[in-house]
Amino acid sequence: MTGKPMQSNELDLDITIDIDQLVRDGLLNRDEAQALVAAQAADQLRQEALPTSSGDSVDKDEVKESATKHKRHWVRVTRLCNQRCTFCLDSMNQDGTYVDVDSLKAYILLGRKLGRERLILSGGEASVHPAYIELIRYGKQVGYEWVQTITNGMMFSYKRFAQAAADAGLDEATVSMHGHTSQLQDKLTGTPGAFVTGVKGMQNLQATGKVVVNIDVVINKQNYRFLPDIIEYYYNMGIREFDLLHIIPFGRGFDEHRHSLFFDLNDAVPYFRKAFEWSKREGVYLWTNRLPVTYLEGFERLIQDPHKLMSEFDGGRHNFESYLKRGIKPDCHGERCDFCFLDGPCRQTMFPYREHLEQGTFAEVAIDSQHVWQGPQAKAVFDRQAASEVVVTARTAQEALACAATLGHDTASRTVALDPGADFEPLLRQCLEPGATQPIQRLQIRTLGDAQRLLQRPEAVPATLVVELALDAQIASWLITQSQIIQALGDRLVAALPNHEYLSESRDIDPTPAQLRQLAEAGVRLKNVPPCVAGAPTEAGRLLWLDAKMLDGSGALDLDRYVHHYVKHAYYAKSIRCGLCSAADQCQGIHINYLRNHGFAIMHPLDDQGQALTDGASFEQLADRLKAANAARSKREQQKVVGLHKPVVRAVADLAIGDRP
Ligand code: SF4
Ligand code: SF4
Repeated sequence: MTGKPMQSNELDLDITIDIDQLVRDGLLNRDEAQALVAAQAADQLRQEALPTSSGDSVDKDEVKESATKHKRHWVRVTRLCNQRCTFCLDSMNQDGTYVDVDSLKAYILLGRKLGRERLILSGGEASVHPAYIELIRYGKQVGYEWVQTITNGMMFSYKRFAQAAADAGLDEATVSMHGHTSQLQDKLTGTPGAFVTGVKGMQNLQATGKVVVNIDVVINKQNYRFLPDIIEYYYNMGIREFDLLHIIPFGRGFDEHRHSLFFDLNDAVPYFRKAFEWSKREGVYLWTNRLPVTYLEGFERLIQDPHKLMSEFDGGRHNFESYLKRGIKPDCHGERCDFCFLDGPCRQTMFPYREHLEQGTFAEVAIDSQHVWQGPQAKAVFDRQAASEVVVTARTAQEALACAATLGHDTASRTVALDPGADFEPLLRQCLEPGATQPIQRLQIRTLGDAQRLLQRPEAVPATLVVELALDAQIASWLITQSQIIQALGDRLVAALPNHEYLSESRDIDPTPAQLRQLAEAGVRLKNVPPCVAGAPTEAGRLLWLDAKMLDGSGALDLDRYVHHYVKHAYYAKSIRCGLCSAADQCQGIHINYLRNHGFAIMHPLDDQGQALTDGASFEQLADRLKAANAARSKREQQKVVGLHKPVVRAVADLAIGDRP
């Protein structure tokens, strides 16, 4: 580290940070370092890619959503641990050493310069670092609002150590406890005494009165049957926050203990449901982590916040960026993918995105008229796509027309979305001009005021133009009463359900499933709504499409912008019951935040005539049937069914052939 030496009680946030040294000390990888150097040079340090928004209510969803917006700075303090967990994800990185304390301080300081608010000290086992208490104190001194540690709790079984950590400013300790007995905890951690010392550590931290204590549980084959008991045990100790982490196919757990740790989620359904009931208790917070959403039917509020994907991709940045920029598949790619919680955003979506980009086969592209290309390559790649549809967002009609004229997709159909209140007359005039090249085919309308203004004289809407209303609850309730407009426009009127980045947005503005059904009954063509929810055929939402802002200067997909795009626009889910549905192959399900808001119960599998199946099975019945079917499979096939959304839905479809319950 270079720069002015600091006295212990004198802080200088302008200190120069030697990023190369942080790389040598293993605190950053080369790609992260390059991003930081570029940001520092531009005097514009990179923030997390989350836009902010706020809500008024303080219910559990709001609390959880706001927690995910807290900007975190993870600092790995050691490369060693005093336990030997069978599912350790970090074993490959451990060489028995501590990270240099000056480098750690520099990295902690860097987090503040990046605007991070929560410092998380992790390892290996962070608490065994000789400077651990000093690092907590330093975190507070440089201004972190909250200092948290991830720990196995053993060091805190020394009362004076726990008190020293609390006095230094530790705000929260997340203790990894995977069992409620010595037998279970000691076996899973490979450490005699892990349970007794861990519990003692938690009690000592609680006794300081200064530290919030919560627990992490890694759910695996050995403990899933005890999950309700584990929660009850620690609840009785005063713990109110539980993070339930599904085992993932990395590290020692997959390489050495795959058969003793991985399990069929269908077996776990009754235990999960009993455990999840705890989330209904006042003051109890349950988080799930990496658990396939299919298994949260009935407990949709426990679906992991989609933004957690950002930190997951951040953790493997080097791998994912190598793929996006150079086409080198992540080094985890292969048999792990079938077990991987990132399969949806990674193999199922990111891979096809890159392939489409390379081959120029994106069927739909979108651009904001004020978009600034990161480099000439980016525009060339965008123009090269053989798109049949181009969506232009603009402030004014003139801007939209000017932008559309610069694009290379001459034969593509054009959709335009203008800012609320903008004058769309110039667009309409162009559509009506005899002999003029059709400038746009579809106009997106996003506010009730604009909808009323455009549709007050439906006969004035050009016959070649489709009007697409972005539905919110207000527009939906107005449109339901507008039979004259619906009749006049017929198929030229489309009501699209927008996707939202945050659950709170979906709760505040989305139309209800009942409104969607009423609209369909009134004859409105719905878009981005599953046919079972509409009760009628619908237009599919956009799934694979390229937004110009996803491209970096070289014309490759930018990782952060891709993940953000995935969360907001491409994260769809289906119920386990969708496997019984005749529309399953054409239906992508529903966006995750509408699902979190309204639950899987809105999905009703359809028969071959498009009618709701009256003999459709419940979630529990299907899980039981999958469990029986899985038991009849080979060991390898059984493993493939474990915990995955798409194979599960496919497996139900297999079951359903000629054998519908
Ligand atoms: S899905 Fe992606 S992250 Fe997961 S194992 Fe495969 S390549 Fe790796
Ligand atoms: S049951 Fe599932 S697959 Fe069928 S229409 Fe509904 S969401 Fe789509």
